[in-house]
Amino acid sequence: MDATVAAAGIDSAALEELRSSFAGELVQPGDPSYDERRAVWNGSIDRRPALIARCAETDDVVAALRFVRRTGLTLAVRSGGHSFPGQSVCDGGVVVDLRPMNRVQVDPDGRTATAQAGTLLGELDAATQDFGLVVPAGIVTHTGLAGLTLGGGIGWVMRKHGLTIDQLLSARVMTAGGEVVRASPDENADLFWGIRGGGGNFGIVTEFEFRLNELGPQVLAGPIFWRMTDSPQVLRFYRDWIAEAPDDLMTILIHRKAPPLPFIPAELHGEPVVAVVCCYAGAIEEGERVVKPLREFGRPVLDLCEPKPFLQHQSMFDPSFPHGRLYYMRSCDVAELSDEVIDMTVEHSLRIASPHTAFPIWQLGGAVARADGDGGAFAGRGAGHTFNITAGTDSPDDFEAEREWVRGLWSALEPHHQDTVYVNFLMDEGSERVRDAYGDESYERLRTLKRKYDPDNLFRLNHNIPPA
Ligand SMILES: Cc1cc2nc3c(=O)[nH]c(=O)nc-3n(C[C@H](O)[C@H](O)[C@H](O)COP(=O)(O)OP(=O)(O)OC[C@H]3O[C@@H](n4cnc5c(N)ncnc54)[C@H](O)[C@@H]3O)c2cc1C
Repeated sequence: MDATVAAAGIDSAALEELRSSFAGELVQPGDPSYDERRAVWNGSIDRRPALIARCAETDDVVAALRFVRRTGLTLAVRSGGHSFPGQSVCDGGVVVDLRPMNRVQVDPDGRTATAQAGTLLGELDAATQDFGLVVPAGIVTHTGLAGLTLGGGIGWVMRKHGLTIDQLLSARVMTAGGEVVRASPDENADLFWGIRGGGGNFGIVTEFEFRLNELGPQVLAGPIFWRMTDSPQVLRFYRDWIAEAPDDLMTILIHRKAPPLPFIPAELHGEPVVAVVCCYAGAIEEGERVVKPLREFGRPVLDLCEPKPFLQHQSMFDPSFPHGRLYYMRSCDVAELSDEVIDMTVEHSLRIASPHTAFPIWQLGGAVARADGDGGAFAGRGAGHTFNITAGTDSPDDFEAEREWVRGLWSALEPHHQDTVYVNFLMDEGSERVRDAYGDESYERLRTLKRKYDPDNLFRLNHNIPPA
C-alpha cells in the first residue's frame, strides 16, 4: 500500500479532534520520522499504517482508542515492537505506540516496582539493579516489557523466582470500551488471570506493578563454548548435569557460527560452535562449584562464565539480535533432551548457513513448574526445554533458505513436541497453534473472557483469541 492510499483512510474531523488533545506525537505517511516509527524489530515486516499515535500519557491512549472506534480503522498496539510476526504494526490502520511511556518507579523497601507499558527490559533492569533487585524477565535488553509480560516472560532467573507474570501484582488495563481498570488478585481477578499469558487480547495495559526479588548485582554468568562437532557429547553430559542442578542455575544452549565479537578469538570466528550459557542466581562461590564439572567436560574452546554484573550478562545477546535483520522463527517444547533429540539438533545445526542464525534451547523447570495457586493462562509450566529455532539474515536473497532450515529442524523434532508452545514464540501459525499454546481448557476460558472484555475483537492483532 503506498503512502497516499494509507493516508486516504483517515477521517479528517476525527483526526483534528485527536490532535486537539494529544500530548504525544502523531506520525503520518510523508512525515520525516514515518519510516523510522513504523519499523519494527523484525526487518522482514514492512507495513504502512495510516497513523502512528505515539502516546505520552494514559489520556493519549484513551484518545487514540476513541479515534480508532470512531474511524473503524484497524488497531495495532505496540510497546517494544519485538513481536516475531510483527503484530504491533499494520497496513492502513492505527498503531497505538506506548514506547514513550517508559517511566519506572522502584520502591526498594516495599520490594515493588511499577513500570509503564513502553518500558524496555534493559530500562527496568537498570532501575531495579541499582538496589540489587530484579523482576525476572527476558534475555535481550531491547525487548519490550509489555508484550513479554503479557505472554508469560521467560529468562535468566525464572528457575529461581518464576516467570515475569509470577511477579505481577497488578496492572492497569484499558478495555475496548475505553475504561481504565485495575486487574489484580482482588480486582477483576478474571482479567488478571487472562493477562498473565493471554497477550494483548483483553485491552491495552498501560502500567504493570511487580514484586521484586534479590539478585546480584554480581552474578556468575556467561557462555562456555565447544566446537559444534563435540555437541552430541556435550549435550549428553549437559542433560545429566542439569538433572541435578539447583534452581539457582539457569542455562540456555546455543548452536551457531561463532560471531566476530571482540571477546571471541579470531580463529573461532565463523566456526560452528555450541555454547552452554549459564546464569547462577545465588552466591558466586556456590555457582563456581556447580559449574565446575561443566567447564571441565571435554575440550571447551572458550570459557566466559565468570563473575560479572547481572546488567552486563543481560546485554550479552543484544549484538546477536539487532533491530532490522530479517528474522524467522519456529518454536516447540520438548520434555527431555533424548539421544534422538540431541542427534537431530546437532545434525541440523551443522547445516546452519547464515552467520547470524543463533538459536536458543531454554532449560525450564524449577520455580516455573512450581507456581502455586492460579498461575495465569501461561500453559508451558510442564515443559522440559523450549526450542526457539530462530534464523536471521541480512539479505532477502538468503532468507528463504534459512527459513527452510528452521522449518526442517522444527519438523524433524515434531515426534518429540510436547502439547504446549510458548505463545510469545509463535509466528502467524493459525488458530490451532494458539489453542495449543493454552491447551483446550484455558483456551475456552480465555474465549469467555474475551467475550466479556472485547466482544467485537477490537484487539485482534495478536495471537488472537476469538470471543466465545
Ligand atoms: C530479540 C528478542 C528477544 C526475546 N527474548 C525473550 C525472552 O528472553 N523471554 C521471553 O519471554 N520472550 C522473549 N522474546 C519474545 C517476546 O516476549 C515477544 O516478542 C513480545 O511480544 C515482545 O514484546 P514487545 O512489547 O516488544 O512487542 P510488541 O511487538 O510491541 O507487541 C507484541 C504483542 O503484544 C501486544 N502488546 C504490546 N504492548 C501491549 C500493551 N501495552 N497492551 C496490550 N497489548 C500489547 C501487541 O499488540 C502485540 O500483539 C524475545 C523477542 C525478541 C524479538
